[in-house]
Amino acid sequence: MGDRACGPWIMWSHCGFGKFDPRTNTLIEVACPSRFCATWVPLTDGKLADHERTDGGHCPWSGVHVEDDRADLPDRIIDTEAARWSGEQ
Ligand SMILES: [Zn+2]
Repeated sequence: MGDRACGPWIMWSHCGFGKFDPRTNTLIEVACPSRFCATWVPLTDGKLADHERTDGGHCPWSGVHVEDDRADLPDRIIDTEAARWSGEQ
C-alpha cells in the first residue's frame, strides 16, 4: 500500500467495509484501508476526511477519493457490514 500509481482514488470495495445513508443510498463512511487505522472515516465530498492513524501520525489516505463501485459488485454488498448496517436503520 501507499505507492499506488493510478492516482488519488480507490474503489470502495478496496476498503472492504462501508456505511451508507439508507435514505440517499450514498456512501458516508468507510473503513480506512490503512493497516495503521482501525477506524471508520467519514467521507466529505466523496473523499476520506482528514484523520489520524492509531500510531498518531497523519493518515496518508486522507483526501483520497473513494469511488462507489457497488454497482460492479452486486453480490459482494450482501456480505458487507454496510448491508447489515443499512438494514438495521
Ligand atoms: Zn487512515
